Amino acid sequence: MIDSERFFVLYLALLLGPLSGLWIACLWRDRKLRAALPRKLSGLFHCKKCRSFYESDEPAEKLACPICGGQNERLTI
Ligand SMILES: [Zn+2]
Repeated sequence: MIDSERFFVLYLALLLGPLSGLWIACLWRDRKLRAALPRKLSGLFHCKKCRSFYESDEPAEKLACPICGGQNERLTI
């Protein structure tokens, strides 16, 4: 026969075990996504004039928009 104190400890272990595992998995996934983010944004530009996004592999910090021709700076975090 299990007394109420042991039952409570068992209940907490069953409840908190999977939750803490899920929490750690989410933290690990977020860290992985943040590590990949600067690489994805490094070639991205946002036009302030026509509000479009465009990519380029050129090393220039300013690049003309292919739609309206406005000069825009590279996106940074
Ligand atoms: Zn534009």
